[in-house]
This record gives sequence, structure tokens and C-alpha cells, in this order.
Amino acid sequence: MTTFSFSLLTGETGPLVKGNEPPELRVPIHMHTILPSPGDQVLAGTKIATANISGLGDVHAPSSGTIKEIADDHILIEVTGEDRTQVEKVPMEDVNVRKWLREQGINVGSLYRATTLIINAVPPEPGISMYEPLLRDYRKTVELGLETVKRIVTPSKMYLVTAKGNRANAFPNCTVTHVSPTYPNGLDPMVIRAVTGQEVLLGTKPAEAVLLSVRDLFFIGKVVETGRPLTETVMTIGSQNHLIKIGTPVGWLTQEAGAAVQPGDRVILGGLMRGMPALNLQQGVDKDTTGLMLIRNGEGLNPTDNFCLGCGECERHCPARIMPGMLSRCSEFKQYDRAEDFHIHSCIECGICGYWCKAQRPLLQYIRHAKYELALLRLPNQTDEAISHETKEAHGGER
Ligand code: SF4
Ligand code: SF4
Repeated sequence: MTTFSFSLLTGETGPLVKGNEPPELRVPIHMHTILPSPGDQVLAGTKIATANISGLGDVHAPSSGTIKEIADDHILIEVTGEDRTQVEKVPMEDVNVRKWLREQGINVGSLYRATTLIINAVPPEPGISMYEPLLRDYRKTVELGLETVKRIVTPSKMYLVTAKGNRANAFPNCTVTHVSPTYPNGLDPMVIRAVTGQEVLLGTKPAEAVLLSVRDLFFIGKVVETGRPLTETVMTIGSQNHLIKIGTPVGWLTQEAGAAVQPGDRVILGGLMRGMPALNLQQGVDKDTTGLMLIRNGEGLNPTDNFCLGCGECERHCPARIMPGMLSRCSEFKQYDRAEDFHIHSCIECGICGYWCKAQRPLLQYIRHAKYELALLRLPNQTDEAISHETKEAHGGER
């Protein structure tokens, strides 16, 4: 068994590191209408795609350059320089804030009127450490984000949820709630339960509460502060937190970190428990990407489709109190309806079951696959792309 720390305590890591600019940016596109054509010149901040579904933000060029390629899932920009579009700052009082944020690239699906606003400052996974530095070193930006969000949510109660032992100063009129600094207590359903006592399914939105992370507030505050659209993400790479242009290729980031990727190594976008493997080193990071991890060939778990031993170890550790082993078998044998009988939708996709599985079965992957198939069955008119977006939202935006 590989030893792994489930602690969510983070050290103080200081201001965000701004990386070097890559020669090309591969900007991910999900459910968008693409605006430019190959060969077009764009300035940094130019809108290059408009969202086709409500809640999803538009996409802008992170740097000036030439549109080199347009594909179903990305726009490739050859970077030429730092020229930017001119900004005319709009007074927030004069705009429909939600609509304006969406046009600036912010996903606004979680912004609606509710009585309770919950600010999640608990790291989502071990090793993802940006919340504490954002709260401390970018306090004004986060506060500006909070003031903007309050105009939409108009909450009567606010909570800041933090891992006991991590530093977090409260905001005015905000109750601080501590949770044990152990994974998976930073996942949204766990944080909602810590505040409201209610258990919610992953990806569902409680009617009376809005939950946003400190990272979400930072992005919103930055857009309002600068008047410029969202073109950067914040990622933990190694022990530092970085401000990275959206679309920066994974291979560029590993190279800049001095970590050459060898055959058989796995590059993970997000955290080790629930992140997604990069498809290739050319893949560009998205605004939802929170981290970059490298698992060397032969290190870590090596899950495979071994038989379930029926040992029950996964059930003993599942925070949702369901039967991961049974769910994985339903998925393996395409018994998706049966998976619903075993409460598959209660799974919060923490990945803990896979860590403890004696047979090293890829339990989280089986469960995600069954959920995806069920979504296709239940929503036959939905496109694969739309379901991918819904699934991604359910993952907390993680990629
Ligand atoms: S990923 Fe596994 S341990 Fe986590 S909630 Fe789902 S079934 Fe339970
Ligand atoms: S831990 Fe693995 S082998 Fe044991 S019951 Fe769960 S799925 Fe089966």
C-alpha cells in the first residue's frame, strides 16, 4: 500500500508565481460558438468563443497572437506578444452583474439568489494549497469578489468554512466554521453538510444556499478589479501556487517545473485523489484546473480490472456510506439501472474507496463511467458534449 497523507493542512506558500509565456496556447472549448477563423490575429482579452448554455462563461484569448488551429475541443493560438484590448471600465452599478461576469468568462451557474452564502476555504484535496495564500496575500481581490457576489446572492447569512489549523480571517458579518483538516472534508457536499446539516448529491445545488470557493471569489474579484476577462487560472504545482494562462500546455508546465515526463509517467490535472489524467502533453489547462501532479512510472497505485474480493474495505471508508465494490461491479457488467438501486448518485467522487481497495480496482473510474452512461440513458437528447459539461460541473469543475 502506498502511503499517502489525507491531511488538508497547508504551509504558507506566499504570493502566486507568474510563469513564463509558452509559444502556443491551446485554449479548451466545451459548449461554445467559436468566433475567429484560422489565420485571424487576436489581442489578449479578445472574445474568441461565446457560451451556448446558461451558466457557462465565454472564452477570451489569454495572449495576443494568431489563430493557428480550430478544433472541436480547443483553439490553438500562436503567441506573438503582450498587446491587449483596450479596457473601458464599466461601473458595476450600471450593469447586470451576473450577465457581465458571464461575458467576462466566469461560470455563473452557482450564482443565484439564496438566503445563505457559504465560502469554502477548505483545500479540495491534499496538496492543493492556494486557498490560504489567496485569503492572505490577495485579500482585497477576494473581498471585491465577495462584495460582487453578494449583489447577486443577497444572503442574510454568510459562513466561511475552513480547515482547523489553517489560517483564515473572517469577513465582516461572516460566521467561521471549522472542519477537521482531513480529506474529503473540503469537497462541496461535505462543506454544505458542515454548515447546514443537509446532505446534498454531488452536482446538485441546494435551493437556499450558494457555495463558492475562495478561488472563485478571487477570479470574480480580479475581473472586477481589472475590467479584463478571465484568462488565467491558479494552480498548485509542486509546493508553489502559480498564476497560469489558460491554454498553457501541460508539457510546458512540467518542463518549466524541471520535471521531464518519461514514458509511463502519468500527469494528473487536479489533485491525486480525483484529478483527471492529461490526455497528452499538448493539452492546455482550463480555468477549472487546480493543480498539476506527476506520478512516475511504477510509483503510486496501479489500478486494473482485477476481480473484486468482496473484502468490504471500500465500504468501511466510504464517506457516503454506500457500496463502492457493488457499484463498480454494476458498472463493469453494464448494469447501470442496478447501480441506481445501490445509490450511485450519493457518491461524492472522493476516490477514497479506490485508495483502500485490496484488489486495486479503479473504483472511482467505474462509478464515473456508470454515472455518465446513466446520464446518456436519462437524457437521450443531450449531446455527449453537454453531458461532459454536466459531469465536469458535478466534479466541482475539476479537470
Ligand atoms: S468515490 Fe468511493 S468512497 Fe468516495 S463517495 Fe464515491 S463510492 Fe464512496
Ligand atoms: S475493497 Fe476492492 S476488493 Fe474489497 S470489496 Fe471493495 S472493491 Fe471489492
